[in-house]
Amino acid sequence: MNKPAATQTAARLRLRLTATAETIVRGGHPWLFADSVREQNRAGQTGELAVIYDRNDKFLAVGLFDAESPIRVRILHAGKPQTIDAAWWKAHLEKSLERRAKLFDATTTGYRLIHGESDGWPALVLDKYDSTFVLKIYSAVWLPRLDEILALFREKISCERIVLRLSRNIQPLAEKQFRRRDGQVFFGSSPEGAVVFSENAIRFEADVLRGQKTGFFLDQRENRAEVEKLACGRNVLNAFSFSGGFSVYAARGGARSVTDLDISAHALESAKRNFALNQNFPTVAACEHKTVQADAFEWIEKASAKFDLIVLDPPSLAKRATEREGAIRAYEKLNSYGIARLSRDGILVAGSCSAHVSVAEFFDSVRRAAMKSGRKFTELKTIQHPPDHPAGFKEAEYLKVIYLKFAA
Ligand code: SAH
Repeated sequence: MNKPAATQTAARLRLRLTATAETIVRGGHPWLFADSVREQNRAGQTGELAVIYDRNDKFLAVGLFDAESPIRVRILHAGKPQTIDAAWWKAHLEKSLERRAKLFDATTTGYRLIHGESDGWPALVLDKYDSTFVLKIYSAVWLPRLDEILALFREKISCERIVLRLSRNIQPLAEKQFRRRDGQVFFGSSPEGAVVFSENAIRFEADVLRGQKTGFFLDQRENRAEVEKLACGRNVLNAFSFSGGFSVYAARGGARSVTDLDISAHALESAKRNFALNQNFPTVAACEHKTVQADAFEWIEKASAKFDLIVLDPPSLAKRATEREGAIRAYEKLNSYGIARLSRDGILVAGSCSAHVSVAEFFDSVRRAAMKSGRKFTELKTIQHPPDHPAGFKEAEYLKVIYLKFAA
């Protein structure tokens, strides 16, 4: 799978870079930007391999070329010269699978097998939901290679089906040139509705065909488990609840009540079904589950009810770098509203998934909100990436959660 058919006869695509970019690539960064390319032996096609040489003509790296994107090459391998052939891809996949082999026991059947750049598969994600696998592609570089990639996954992974998900920006090209659609199913029948998987013995549904990301927020597993430990006897508010992931854990942990707050009726219906799926746990059966469909910023600001534990895990508030400062202010505001709704001894669990807001910037914004509240508080802990979502470079660090407890 090293060459798309159209380039079989052309000379290998070779690039040379600016000095700064050489250093960056040598340091293992997975993105090479278009303005760092100093020399190119011919026009390249999206998806073909590009070999990068340094100024002394020594091999630096090899990656997938993108003719259209500002990220011109997505690096697959840097360091010693390496041929990217079928055997390499196979070994590459085996390495990702091995990294997950010992992470989970049989009570967890949903997790990430391939996490993009940080696993050596730039802009590609593979999630497992029990026997259904979801392959999500975020860049056109994979489109000409999909058949080979799918065949390789099929060979190495026993599955009922693989669902293809495509980020919105590549959907038109995928449809027009490759006849690939978001939600297309390979090797098995299309699931009827959501698929069910388990996480620490809690059963959840995932809408793998249409849901956000690949159908569930697998990256919050560790935080959900933490919330379960903190929830006993508490009235919990889960804002931006999506399908109630945090809520079912809180209920199993003995929460008295859990309120799911989300703007999407669809998400709240899913949260209800997730509660129904776990009635076998006496604590879940005993917990009062409420749903509120509203804008969380407005609702929390105006609500009068108090809660003993509040989870605030909004969608990314900075989709691009220019939105960074506004996002930091929005986090501070949202968390001030949340703190005002916390009862005595209340716990705030504040999350951010904005890659453009750094770990320090986010934690500081929440601490600022806490200090401005005038209440005494202690910091319980912070949690970042779980082991099946490794962050191998700075831009990949998107997930951060901070836990604060307010005394009075
Ligand atoms: N905490 C969730 C993931 C959150 S995803 C989990 O762990 O599974 C973000 C959620 O926020 C989505 O369900 C989306 O519908 C919701 N959302 C987006 N904007 C919102 C708003 N202004 N008010 C309330 N919910 C919102």
